[in-house]
Amino acid sequence: MKTVSCARCGKLYEYNGISDYCPICMQYDEAIFQKIKEYLNEHPKATVIQVATDLDIPVKMIKKYLREGRLEIVEAENFFLNCEKCGAPIKTGRYCDKCARDFDSGVKRITNEAATNIHNRKYSEKMRYLDKSKVK
Ligand SMILES: [Zn+2]
Ligand SMILES: [Zn+2]
Repeated sequence: MKTVSCARCGKLYEYNGISDYCPICMQYDEAIFQKIKEYLNEHPKATVIQVATDLDIPVKMIKKYLREGRLEIVEAENFFLNCEKCGAPIKTGRYCDKCARDFDSGVKRITNEAATNIHNRKYSEKMRYLDKSKVK
């Protein structure tokens, strides 16, 4: 266990590998997220500023949820984030569709290799199984 300081309150806590927040701030973070979610259910096309003002939440926090891909901006004119790679306006996450695709195809290449490895392993397992049944 690594002790780190909470990104929000600065208190030291044991890092769980999931959140940059201490358990207390994590709960707070989750509660705020639920509030935004409920608000967006009632006001499906609210702007970021509207949410921030009505719920008294810092825009920075809303932006964080958007970055995490937990919230999405619906209206095109609400584009609020920029792709971290090319700077194009995006609705959610960290990359625009194009960069995400580029990124995806990179991931897919790796995934395909992994799938081939799994396939080979399955094949060899099957071989072993057949060998065993022959012994019986
Ligand atoms: Zn904290
Ligand atoms: Zn991009």
